[in-house]
Amino acid sequence: MPAGSSMMTMPLQISSLIRHADRVHGDVQIATAANGEVVHRQTWSDTHRRSSQLAASLLALGISAGERVATMAWSSHRHLEIYYAVTGIGAVCHTVNPKLFVEQVRYTMQHAEDAAVFVDLDFVPLLLQILPDCPSLRHIVLLEDDPEALRLIPTAISYEQFLAQGDEDFEWPGFDENAGAYLSYTSGTTGNPKGVLYSHRSTILHTWAQSLPDAMNLRSQDVIAPVIQFFHVNAFGLPCAAAMVGAKLVFPGAAVDAASLYALFESEQVTMSAAVPTLWQQMLNHLEANNCQLNTLERIVVGGSACPPKLMHAYQKQYGIKIRHVWGMTETSPLGVTNAFKAKHENIGEEQRYAVQAKQGRPLFGVEMKIVDSEQKELPRDGRAAGDIVVRGPWICREYYRSDAPALNEDGWFMTGDVGTLDPDGYMQITDRSKDVIKTGGEWISSIALENIALSHDSIADAAVIAVPHPKWDERPLLVAVLKPGSSAKPDQILAHFNGKVAKWWIPDDVVFADSLPYTATGKIDKKRIREQWRKQKPVKQ
Ligand code: ADP
Repeated sequence: MPAGSSMMTMPLQISSLIRHADRVHGDVQIATAANGEVVHRQTWSDTHRRSSQLAASLLALGISAGERVATMAWSSHRHLEIYYAVTGIGAVCHTVNPKLFVEQVRYTMQHAEDAAVFVDLDFVPLLLQILPDCPSLRHIVLLEDDPEALRLIPTAISYEQFLAQGDEDFEWPGFDENAGAYLSYTSGTTGNPKGVLYSHRSTILHTWAQSLPDAMNLRSQDVIAPVIQFFHVNAFGLPCAAAMVGAKLVFPGAAVDAASLYALFESEQVTMSAAVPTLWQQMLNHLEANNCQLNTLERIVVGGSACPPKLMHAYQKQYGIKIRHVWGMTETSPLGVTNAFKAKHENIGEEQRYAVQAKQGRPLFGVEMKIVDSEQKELPRDGRAAGDIVVRGPWICREYYRSDAPALNEDGWFMTGDVGTLDPDGYMQITDRSKDVIKTGGEWISSIALENIALSHDSIADAAVIAVPHPKWDERPLLVAVLKPGSSAKPDQILAHFNGKVAKWWIPDDVVFADSLPYTATGKIDKKRIREQWRKQKPVKQ
């Protein structure tokens, strides 16, 4: 017993979440869908029972504490069971992102030295491609029974058969809360993906914080559809948070097209969901094209890239669905800031409220944040000075998994690679990723701010602003735009739309048109590819 306290010191363990959900919210459902229709239902109690049995099977297989067990799977009740079973025995659940390039998937599985993998049928061809290069993989479990897949991988075993081998009376073991639990890799837009290993302690603390009212505002009455997959930073933490608060979970599986999601949200009466802005834009197009409403959806969490104000307007004004803008990254578990209004914002004008909402949000308690200059000197929290955002806290990455890549600055703060402002009320606004900032004549221009203005033009469906070299100013902004079908807006008309919205020298020098923009595996505009294409092809006006 530590001196000075009379309190218990129980370790913060992820298995306590599923045990809690079993005892307190046992009859609440977990639904898994395919193509917009629920194909399987079970309860939190079923999930607890099956996870414990699976944990026993894993131990019997010889999986030991600290070993990595991979998943290559869509979100589903089975993925949820694995998520709790693997961490419950002290092993590490590596949620492989199968949407990365095949070389990156191979790299992450080799780097993690996964001992076993649970694989969906959809990803069997991918697994077969990399299997010869992953000698550490001793066991393969197929999530669906399929004779053809079993023929292709004769050593594989089917999930239900594997689970059934486990002892039903299994008891979750206790261990150090600092043990590794989930392993996520960054999408690796520069160099190889880097691994971040969350601990039990960091996960539980993050789960508590994310459930708070000004964060994701989660409660037992919620029906949560994590559209974001497990392999995208643990579905923004929702599989753990739903167990903590006792909410119903609805997994869309592979079908995250707007029509399937719409059907599922309506039939399961979903109240909250989380995804990247592009997905919410597709849903909006669906609602408009079909003249329909989302009748039970109260709020959506939007993160991963900046949420354009136009999207917020449409959801809030036309459909009465609240937007919660959030920012985070793999290295921050992922939630760092969330955007909720304060009491002082209740009676300010509508435009001002939208200006507050366009910011990414305020740090959660547990995340300390500041902005610094190139010498790591702190910059003022005045809402104007922009600098490198650095953070620290109990769910922020200290070092990369098995890597020397630098994570912290000399003062021990994690360098996010994002640039932004902090205002006196604590709201942070991202102006750019440091590599996307447009540096012109010694000043910085925010590509996000310019993209938001471009997207507010009626003719523009998608937009990216990149820096192109300039002999006098070093760099100048170029707008790469995708026009809406049937639109024939000309560059000058589009550029005129910027007048009065930003300083004159911020206005892009030119507009070029593309049929579509490339996106990364995590749904962000791939500026690296856009730069590669347009930096060479289009000389900017002098
Ligand atoms: P993932 O999206 O898989 O977490 P990363 O960890 O690579 O992938 O992405 C984190 C980055 O995404 C952040 O550093 C930031 O640049 C960007 N990002 C996340 N949320 C937002 C947001 N709300 N607005 C602007 N950029 C964001």
